[in-house]
Amino acid sequence: MTDSSTADHADRQAPFDTFATDLRTHLAGALRPEHAGERVRLAGWVHRSRDLGGLVFVDLRDRAGLVQVSFDPRYSPPDAIAAAGSVGVESVVLIEGVVAERPVEGVNPDMATGAIEVRGHALRVVGPATTPAIPVARGRGEKLPAEELRLRHRYLDLRRPELQANLLLRHRLLQATRGFLAGRGYLEVETPVLTKPTPEGARDYLVPSRVHPGEFYALPQSPQLYKQLLMTAGFDRYFQIARCFRDEDLRADRQPEFTQIDIEASFVEQEDIIKLVEGLLGRIFKEARGAEIPANFDRITWREAMDVYGSDKPDRRFGLNFVDLTEELKDCEFRVFSGAVAAGGVVKAINAKGFADISTGQIDKLTKLAQAAGAKGLAYIQARGEDRESWRSPFVKRMTDAEVEALRSKLNIEAGDLILFAADQWEPACDVLGRVRLECADMQNLLEGNEELNFLWVTEFPLLAFDEETSRYVAVHHPFTRPLKEDEEKLLKGELSTDLRAQAYDVVLNGTELGGGSIRIHEGPLQSAMFKALGISEETAAEEFGHILDAFRFGAPPHGGLALGLDRLVMLICNEQSIREVMAFPKNNKGSDLMSQSPAEVDPKQLRDLRIQTVKKPGAAPTGNTPAAAAQG
Ligand code: ASP
Repeated sequence: MTDSSTADHADRQAPFDTFATDLRTHLAGALRPEHAGERVRLAGWVHRSRDLGGLVFVDLRDRAGLVQVSFDPRYSPPDAIAAAGSVGVESVVLIEGVVAERPVEGVNPDMATGAIEVRGHALRVVGPATTPAIPVARGRGEKLPAEELRLRHRYLDLRRPELQANLLLRHRLLQATRGFLAGRGYLEVETPVLTKPTPEGARDYLVPSRVHPGEFYALPQSPQLYKQLLMTAGFDRYFQIARCFRDEDLRADRQPEFTQIDIEASFVEQEDIIKLVEGLLGRIFKEARGAEIPANFDRITWREAMDVYGSDKPDRRFGLNFVDLTEELKDCEFRVFSGAVAAGGVVKAINAKGFADISTGQIDKLTKLAQAAGAKGLAYIQARGEDRESWRSPFVKRMTDAEVEALRSKLNIEAGDLILFAADQWEPACDVLGRVRLECADMQNLLEGNEELNFLWVTEFPLLAFDEETSRYVAVHHPFTRPLKEDEEKLLKGELSTDLRAQAYDVVLNGTELGGGSIRIHEGPLQSAMFKALGISEETAAEEFGHILDAFRFGAPPHGGLALGLDRLVMLICNEQSIREVMAFPKNNKGSDLMSQSPAEVDPKQLRDLRIQTVKKPGAAPTGNTPAAAAQG
């Protein structure tokens, strides 16, 4: 039995001896001193080789890690030495040899197999490699090749032990999820990938139908309606590791397709979903990190999250909490403050302790950030000393002693502090100061060395937001989200406002949203009222969502659920900066797969079959983007 638990990148679920075949007896990276004296057949890639003039060392790599194989005239036949001496790196080889303990001075503590080596008796190349387009083996401190190159040759980049470890962890996390949910009666049900387009929400990826010329399927943005229909069909508890597609502008951490752990249950309330997900995340973190996380996470309402942290996914690993100064500064001679209050707004501030010596460049950066978020500027005080004369600020002279004292006591201002303000209507003021808060924490390195896992539930999200551009209400979560009991009547009566609250909840880790969900509407009249609130006419509702409205007429159970973003979860657990590092074949930040060169133009015949004509002229330089397509009908 091999020692799988200490191998470099051990897969704890499959013992290594299950990898034995006629071609190999052991995994190279799993060999240990207990194998000394055993004759082994190994198979894998040549990670490195060194020819010291007749004495050849080959580092052989397989899924379990690396082992050193030596070819030495004392025990290796000449043809084996010659084969080892001429083999190219990254070639696939079959090796026969005997495991031997290394002398004490030869032990390599940096290798899991460093106490042994394999004395090579034969080496056969079964998959020769030309010089790899990007190197797989890297010296200490050696930088990775440019990401474009790595994505282009993803099959080579995936050989890197780091990426192998990430995908192995992702696998383990998925197995843990399946085990946990199946163990609680959740059924894994697959839902269609070819679905019906909807104009709601994000932009759909469309798939033309050949059989129905001029008609299109959409790839699902999430299995939302299907999982609700499964509830009305009586399945009671559902989950799916679901691929979702959204044609949104891509940001650094977005992919056109991503994976959700999607969950729905009947006869549940918010509390049940929260408990379930706390348990699931507990199992996931135990499996993936060996970490015990709290059994119950703190909860705050959306209003409180915005009011104190200026974010619906607050990072609470550091302070910089907002202090409200609306009352204290309502008559301030500095009009930015009193004017905001007179217009029904608020004044809020944070105290960045000990940051009075912020540089002009840093102040500029914070100001630009505030402006980009919609503020006119950024008011600040650098409290260089105790008394107000020493405070550096464009407006402190215009404050009364009482106002200064109120600031001092409410913000606990001491010499060396930096105070940053926002004054506006409540939501924009909170939003601006929330962004400033995060940047400030970054500038002050407040999270350096912080290993905390800070989980949080944010509840009672607003049901509706007002979209200024289209002058109509939009759903904050999605149109199937249930209002809070207290606000149900208002929705039914059409008394709409952004004050209506939803039974919607997000789970947050260290300032990142891991996922969110809601208790759903399960009655036709309430669902129709919601569609109406969103400006969806009865005809459109019947056309787009007729099936769910119908399903609600035939006996629908109360139900609710949530979806966790799997890619981001794995990224956080792997301490990676990008979800591309935890996906096998990601696209770049322009949505292109550089390896297979997709998206790509298609054969005109395929377009003819689909009765589609592209607007782009044939022969025009490729843009790398999907050509705009028009249905001919
Ligand atoms: N389908 C929702 C989403 O993708 C999650 C949920 O409400 O369960 O955000």
